[in-house]
Amino acid sequence: MNNLGTAIVTGASSGIGAATARHLAKAGFRVVVGARRLDRLTELAAAIDGVALQLDVTDPASVSAFVEAAGPCRVLVNNAGGALGLAPVASADEDHWRGMWETNVLGTLRMTKALLPALVDSGDGHVVTITSVAAYEVYDNGAGYTSAKHAQSALHRTLRGELLGEPVRFTEVAPGLVETEFSLVRFDGDAERAAGVYDGLTPLTADDVAEVVAFAVTRPPHVNLDQIVMKPRAQASASRVHRE
Ligand code: NAP
Repeated sequence: MNNLGTAIVTGASSGIGAATARHLAKAGFRVVVGARRLDRLTELAAAIDGVALQLDVTDPASVSAFVEAAGPCRVLVNNAGGALGLAPVASADEDHWRGMWETNVLGTLRMTKALLPALVDSGDGHVVTITSVAAYEVYDNGAGYTSAKHAQSALHRTLRGELLGEPVRFTEVAPGLVETEFSLVRFDGDAERAAGVYDGLTPLTADDVAEVVAFAVTRPPHVNLDQIVMKPRAQASASRVHRE
């Protein structure tokens, strides 16, 4: 195994990132996982015969050290990110906004910039960015997150044109509700409030999303899945769900 080259997954210490790392390892990639919580990464890397490296995508020095240590790579999954708080624009918390823009937008920019040369050199590079339905819709009290996800998506889609003619593919995966630590982080550890987000419906799992990422990166080199929007059956839009 490990014959498909190296895949880097950011934000792999939980949720979609951890599941993606497992699925890519199973598909035959050597996987390098990054996030701030090294203890979790080390456990994951041991299970998938991968490499764990600490990474804070908001810190340029951390990104440089990570990329240097990771070496040549063929696939980058920009997954690190998430939401902080749920508040109207009128009372927006600027630290929350800064945090969301730093991870989702500038984190994706830093990682992609740093790895593009290696991805092109690989002869069949692939950048997968996990945006969200929040990259295409807005909802009340969500502007900090939706604006960051819109910007992350715009950055990703711009690369598709800028790298046209180079051997790199670009896939955006935009999920709706996925049950991970996402809502726990958004609501600052309030488990009851976080659980309420998924009450009365069956959300996507991290594995559901990871399977789709693994499918996209294992297509033949001439096939580019540009954009994949995936939602639970019970979700029609970012703000409209059916609860039993
Ligand atoms: P999660 O379980 O909270 O995972 C988020 C991951 O991002 C963690 O591994 C976290 O690791 C990492 N991370 C956060 N800040 C980071 C930083 N500064 N540097 C490096 N890693 C960082 O949530 P998730 O649902 O899997 O989220 C993954 C992605 O999917 C996010 O981009 C999110 O916006 C997107 N998404 C989620 C949903 C959903 O409903 N869950 C829907 C659509 C899109 P550390 O804390 O250890 O650094």
